[in-house]
Parts: sequence; C-alpha cells; structure tokens
Amino acid sequence: MTQVRTRMAPSPTGEMHVGSMATLLKNYAFAKRNGGQFILRIEDTDKVREVEGGVKAIQEIVHRYGLDWDEGPGKGGEFGPYIQSERLEIYKKEVQTLIDNDKAYYCFCSKERLAEVKEQQMANKQAPHYDRHCRVIDASEAKKRVADGEEYVIRLKVPTDQEITFTDLLRGEITFHSNLIDDQVLLKSDGYPTYHLAVVIDDYLMKITHIMRGEEWISSTPKHVLLYQAFGWPVPVFAHIPVFLNPDGKGKMSKRKGMVSAASFLDRGYLSEAMLNFFMILGWARKNQEEVMTLEDYVKEFDPSDLSSNSVAFDIKKLDWLNGVYIRKLSPEQLKEKITPFISKNFPVEKIDQVLPLIQERLVTLADFDQLTKFFYGELNYETDLLLKKADSKELVIEELNEVIKLIETLSSWSLTDLEEGTRNLQEKKDWHRGQFFMMLRISTTGEKATPPLFETMMVLGKDLVITRLKEALNKLI
Ligand code: GLU
Repeated sequence: MTQVRTRMAPSPTGEMHVGSMATLLKNYAFAKRNGGQFILRIEDTDKVREVEGGVKAIQEIVHRYGLDWDEGPGKGGEFGPYIQSERLEIYKKEVQTLIDNDKAYYCFCSKERLAEVKEQQMANKQAPHYDRHCRVIDASEAKKRVADGEEYVIRLKVPTDQEITFTDLLRGEITFHSNLIDDQVLLKSDGYPTYHLAVVIDDYLMKITHIMRGEEWISSTPKHVLLYQAFGWPVPVFAHIPVFLNPDGKGKMSKRKGMVSAASFLDRGYLSEAMLNFFMILGWARKNQEEVMTLEDYVKEFDPSDLSSNSVAFDIKKLDWLNGVYIRKLSPEQLKEKITPFISKNFPVEKIDQVLPLIQERLVTLADFDQLTKFFYGELNYETDLLLKKADSKELVIEELNEVIKLIETLSSWSLTDLEEGTRNLQEKKDWHRGQFFMMLRISTTGEKATPPLFETMMVLGKDLVITRLKEALNKLI
C-alpha cells in the first residue's frame, strides 16, 4: 500500500486564516491516522502579493497551535526544497517536457494585445479568455523566437471538447467541460511558475496522495487534472473542505465581520487546544457524538469522507464554551503560564497564586483576566444606590457598615473561618436580611454584583484594603 502523504501549501500573502488552520489540522490528522507524513510547503511564487516575514509567520502560527510537520521548511526532507521560490529550475525543466510533447506552447502576446482582446470579449458579453492566438504558431518558429530573445509565457494547450471528471471525497464525481477552460499560463515571463503549474508539479514530486484544501479551489481542480494528464501522472485524491460562514451563519467568514486570522484568536485568549477541538467538530462528529476530544482521539477517528460538504457557521458560543472547558482543565501552573501575557501591568503580582483559583471557573477567554480581577487593585467605581439595594433604609446600611468595620478591626486573626463566622454571626444576631447584607458587603468591597466567593475574595484583598473600602462605602452614604 502506498504511504499516505498530505500537505498544506499556504502562500505567505498575509496572516493565516482560521479556516486554513482548520484545513491544516485535517491534513495533519489524516496523515497521522494512516502512519503517513504531513508536509508543509510554502507557495511563494506570487512575489507581488507576498508580505514581509510571511514565510516565518506561517511556521510560527502552526507551532503556536501545537502542530508540526514531518517535512518542510526548517526540517528538510527527501523531496525538498519545500519553498517554491527555491524550486524554479524544477518547474522550468518539467514544463519543457510539456512543450516537447505538444501539451503546452509559447505565447508571445503583449499585455496590450491581451487587454484589447479582453475588452472586445467584454463588449460582446463573452467571458474573458485567451483567444489562443499563439497556439497555432509552428513549434520550430516559436523556438526560434524564444532563442532570439523575444519575451514569452508558456500556456497549457487545453484539449477541446472533452469532459474532465474527478472525484471529490465529499461530493463524489465532479465534471467540467474543457471548452470552458482557458489556455492558462503555466510559466510567467519572469521565469516563475503560476500556482497551477507549481502546485501540480510539487504535489506529484512530493508524492502527495491526498489533497485536502479549501473549496474555493474546486474550479482550479479541472486545470490541475488536465496538467496531471498532460504530464502522464496519476491524479491524487481530492477533498475540498467547505469554508466557514460568519458566526451569524451569513456569508463566508471574512474580515468585515471581525478578526479571522488564526493568530488573532490566540492573541484574544483562546487556547490552541480549544481551537483545535473546535475545528474538529465543525462539520464532523465522532461516532459517540462527544464534542470534547483530544488530538489523539481525533487522529484515531478522523476520516475526511465523513465530512459534511455544507458550510458551517463559526459558532463563537460553542468556541467560548469549549475554551472554558479547556481553561478549567489547566493545572494552576499551566493556567499561570498561559495567562501571564494577559495580566495587566497594574495587577499586584504577589496575589496571582491566590487570585487564579478564584477566577478559573469564570474565565471564558484568558483575556477576561483583567475584567475579572480589576477590583483587586483598581479604584472602585459603583453607584451609591447599589449599596442600598433591598435595604429598608439608608440608616440600616450605615449601621451595618459601622458594625462590620468594628468586627473586622477586632478580628484576632485574618483567616477565612474567623471572617466568615464573625460576619455570619453578626448578621444573625442583628437579624439583618441575609441577602441584602451580604450583597451590600460584596458591593462595598469589590464594586461588583458578581464576583468569586465573597469571603475568599475578601481574604485576598487583605484586611487593610477591606476596611478602607468599607469606610469609603460609609462615606458615600453620610
Ligand atoms: N497556495 C494555495 C493557498 O494559498 C494553496 C492551494 C492548494 O492547497 O492547492 O491556499
């Protein structure tokens, strides 16, 4: 049996989209499931759209997601180099065999001529396409013009009147008619291959068996199939993965409706493990329907032919839920390490070990840290009315505050049990309304209606700060 070899072939044209990371995961998992290899290849033949640092950024983001490749940049491998701009000689050599076998031809049309043709076609309400002007040039004449230094591109000689059929794992057979396919450029005048040429040559030479890529490439696939045929190479298995829709289910997930790069989610406090788990369950389900699963489980079970061919919405609520699940699984040390980049400069670091267990349950993302902890150090800023909630009179609240200050000042030790027992006894003895009293205590010490458990929180705040805040509350009322 042939070794399963999958690949991800990103272009360094900007930050990697979350959808691409989800596709990368599928390629990774399928290779691992079959004991095969996952290859990372950089497709940098479009030098105009390339962004600075793009090649490095691709490698970094894959690693930030906790994944890795078996062959590719930085790793090498039997079929390298894995960066297309370093493979130009390979493409030139391979495309020459197409010329020699009359499967491709030199085209000498100027930009001006092509623009005119296009304009004409548009005026005639035709879809713009190359009019095959140079396809009829005699091979020996073309060769001579090339030797004389004339500028040229190389185009594929697309056969006429043919059906091109390929099988997509998710959709079954897909057929295109060759008459609708342009004689596309394979090699550009600057000696660079186009995406179509490079992708086919590389997938063949790198022995890729399964190509899983975004469904936006479906219309390119017949061109690739024609190229495989022209070269006389076997066609790999294709699976075109549906794109994510925006969280509201409307339209392809795009920048207009929020951040979409794979990096931006990690930067906003989503854990890579939660992201990967989320990708796993979008458009695919385990046999036992369980949604929380490890990468290991996924690798054991994932089969691309079980993927739905329908696009699914990027359900942020589900992602938030999963992220919470993964945050709660972290050990205190892991949480501390992961949350450190999200801790505000003003946070009193000496309190971190006490605070984290109090908020771990309540974090949806790591970036919630500030919001959930700012009362541990910042100025409180709450409406005075909040102190009076459910109280019969202002005088009562003043009395409560005075009494609780007295109690805390005279506590023999600052311990959870003393504080809790003392305040509970006081409330019972005075017969104050329990809900009202403790809510008032919560508001006056934290400024918030919802906090981690009150007494633990007060412990972390410390006796002095608690007393100061109770006195501030009192001052608001008198
Ligand atoms: N370089 C293409 C991209 O940026 C790869 C498409 C493919 O997987 O064939 O997405």
